[in-house]
Amino acid sequence: MKDRRNTLQKELTFEAVQGFSGHPSADDIYRMISAEHSTISKATVYRNLFSLCEEGRIGKVIPVGCSEAHYDHRIDRHCHAHCIKCGRVVDVDVSYDMSSARDAHAMEDGFTILSHELIFEGICRNCRDKEMKNGTEGIKD
Ligand SMILES: [Zn+2]
Ligand SMILES: [Zn+2]
Repeated sequence: MKDRRNTLQKELTFEAVQGFSGHPSADDIYRMISAEHSTISKATVYRNLFSLCEEGRIGKVIPVGCSEAHYDHRIDRHCHAHCIKCGRVVDVDVSYDMSSARDAHAMEDGFTILSHELIFEGICRNCRDKEMKNGTEGIKD
């Protein structure tokens, strides 16, 4: 019976990630699940997130300088932007085809690139608007 319970909890975790349109942290996901399933432990949710990533069923984004991972319901190849003010991670629809860069680097010292990840750093619209309202030096046109 324990296996069945584990599977159920894993599916619950998977569905919770699908329920977010953005890129929730493990804590966000845990809070969402525990609101309805108070008996599930944080460790279980974290363990399930890890194994769902291993299986390639969900994606994971860890921006530079961040200790916390953001999980992603999208598993197709796409790029991200990370807001350095609020920590939000958003999808960026730029071309993912970096084959020319790959070739150049692969030739350099025989290093074969298997994958790569591109995360832009910046300030999101919300944070920029907030700064403008607060009267801080903003970009004015
Ligand atoms: Zn922001
Ligand atoms: Zn994404």
